[in-house]
Parts: sequence; C-alpha cells; structure tokens
Amino acid sequence: MIIDLLKESNALLEGHFLLSSGKHSDRYVQCAKLLQYPDRAAEAISFIVEKVKDLDIDIVVGPAMGGIIVAYELGRQLGKPAIFTEREEGEMKLKRGFNIEKGQKVLITEDVVTTGKSAYEAIRVVEEYGGVVVGIACIVDRSKGDIKYPVYGGTKLEIKTYDIEGCPLCKEGLPIVKPGSRKIK
Ligand SMILES: [Zn+2]
Repeated sequence: MIIDLLKESNALLEGHFLLSSGKHSDRYVQCAKLLQYPDRAAEAISFIVEKVKDLDIDIVVGPAMGGIIVAYELGRQLGKPAIFTEREEGEMKLKRGFNIEKGQKVLITEDVVTTGKSAYEAIRVVEEYGGVVVGIACIVDRSKGDIKYPVYGGTKLEIKTYDIEGCPLCKEGLPIVKPGSRKIK
C-alpha cells in the first residue's frame, strides 16, 4: 500500500500544519521523502503502472520538480522515454533539446495532484507541440474529481484544510508546524 510506504518514509505526517496557502491542515504529504528511497519509489509507482499499463502511451512527461522522479521511474517500468518540463522565468517549457512529436500520446506525471495546476501547465506545453495527453498519473491523488483529464492515482488521499478562524486544531491549542522547516511557531 502506498499509504504504508508514505508513513514508513515519514512522507505523511499527522499533526497541525501551516500550508503555503496560509490554510491549516491535520495531515501533510511530502512525496519527496518517499522518493528518496529508490526501492520504495519503485514499489509506489508499480501501483500506478497497474492502472496505466494498458493505455497507449508513447512518452511520459513530468513537470519539474514534483513530476521528474515519478516520470523517470514510471517510464522505466513502462519501457517508455521520460522527459520533463521546467519553468523559465515563471513559464513552463520543454528545454534541454527535449521534443514531443505531433500526435505522440503523452502521460503526464506528478507526485501529488490537488488542483492540477502544474500538470495543466505541462499539458499546455505538450499540446503546443501537438502531443495528445492521455491522462495524469500521480502517486497521491488529492483531486476532487474536477480535473479535466483522467487521473491515475496510486492512492487517493483526502486532507482537510481549514481557514485559521475555523481550525479545530487551533481551538485545541495544538502547536502549529510549517512543513519542511524545523521551527515550531
Ligand atoms: Zn490551526
């Protein structure tokens, strides 16, 4: 189970977290903590492979940073090339001589899909090259069913977020942690 792999890797934390959006949550997922272990990364991504192995895919494309390792490992397991898009002055692009041929079927990868913002940015690039997006593959699917492309998630995860005023954890007086930093506010 991906949830177990996340927990073993301390990639899924429970507590009281301050998110970059300013909202509070009771859980926090950081897939990079799982992906630092290549054997766990391979196992987690094998769950995605089960869902996408029958799709017609020519190439796997992940937006940097979150999508790169997932693209690489998914490409390795599917026997397909894996490339990535990256931002240049804020704009998502294909660099390094990477190319997508017109009509190529593309699977987008992400570590976590929530609103799909960076996946959509990568999709725009793929479609500019004439590629055909067949879906978005991710380790953790946090989307609410409103993504305009099929989402192939290794696992579904619902994380509740709260505004400060309505946060039950604040009311309990639980100390808040900013994920990724060691300091506790
Ligand atoms: Zn709170």
